[in-house]
Amino acid sequence: MTAAGIYIHVPFCLRKCPYCDFYSVKYDADTAEKYVGAVCRNIAAFGGRNVTADTVYFGGGTPSLLTPAQISRILDTVYKNINLISPEITLEANPSSLTAEKLRGYRSAGVNRLSVGFQSADDSQLRFLGRLHDTARAENAVLEAHAAGFDNISCDLILGSEGQNVGSLDRTIDRLLGLPISHISAYMLKIEQGTPFDCDDIRRRAADEETLCQLYEYMCGRLSAAGFEHYEISNFALADRRSRHNMKYWQVEPYIGIGAAAHSDFGGVRYFCPPDVSAFVAAETQPVEIEDAAPDRFEECVMLGARISDGFELSRLTALGGEQRTRDLLKRAAPLAAAGFLAVTSERIALTERAFLLSNEIISRLL
Ligand code: SF4
Repeated sequence: MTAAGIYIHVPFCLRKCPYCDFYSVKYDADTAEKYVGAVCRNIAAFGGRNVTADTVYFGGGTPSLLTPAQISRILDTVYKNINLISPEITLEANPSSLTAEKLRGYRSAGVNRLSVGFQSADDSQLRFLGRLHDTARAENAVLEAHAAGFDNISCDLILGSEGQNVGSLDRTIDRLLGLPISHISAYMLKIEQGTPFDCDDIRRRAADEETLCQLYEYMCGRLSAAGFEHYEISNFALADRRSRHNMKYWQVEPYIGIGAAAHSDFGGVRYFCPPDVSAFVAAETQPVEIEDAAPDRFEECVMLGARISDGFELSRLTALGGEQRTRDLLKRAAPLAAAGFLAVTSERIALTERAFLLSNEIISRLL
């Protein structure tokens, strides 16, 4: 059986960034402590079910608001109740909530991969994004993490802030490549409905579509020249440094989500815990709502596999959807391959790098 991933949502932030629509509430130490207790209770509920996992991912929110002792308690509970084999254990961290001491604590607790919300090496862009850190703090956080023993560090970047152009992106990439990191996740700024950024003023100031594409293409070229494999639309890694946990999502492998707003794909069903910290903390076992009781795995493999440079395997599609459905898909793929958007072999289909920006259109033509 495929090893699962364990996702633990930590829905606390010091302050809400104005572009963010992830579920999080303002951090307070008492609620966080109760939340950690509820996370442990829910992990313990998997004891005796013989679940095997090989990744643990603390996502948020801001997981680095939890203390090393709290992270350690959660990981101890995972080890006691789940067969954890050679795990990749990632913690998302914001530079403003990291200290050298905390980083040493996380490392001792067993965290072996850090994902740092770096975002930009331009202070005016960081202010535009409403971030609490400046470039110097972000760089120091990465160096402190490395000194604490982290040799698998990822940094997040945001493309499309006010005033960003190829020149300033170039400087940000220079600063990043000067740091001991092995992975970069780069996201285009998206104006999400209902966030403070959802207004005409910000739409005028943020990068337009054409600039975004230009920034993205420039970044892909620079990172590839620096040896980073462009293995997913928004993700770049040095050799053997892909995010093993996130690969599970794109390869349609099982994962168990614990915490308010955490999603799961486990036991053949997609479900989620509603975004409500109080309800999560109060319940003996986390409340869940079914998202999809019978997912169409053929369709999911195409939609999610199209995001990665490996693409999706034809034999798996046939096993999931039958020979006729795979043959029909291959027919639809042929003109896209002829136009240079897809690489098709006898084993798999993958988007070419130049097609990544058109992935939605290509997926809709394939399905
Ligand atoms: S720190 Fe991250 S999760 Fe929290 S508000 Fe900012 S972007 Fe959203």
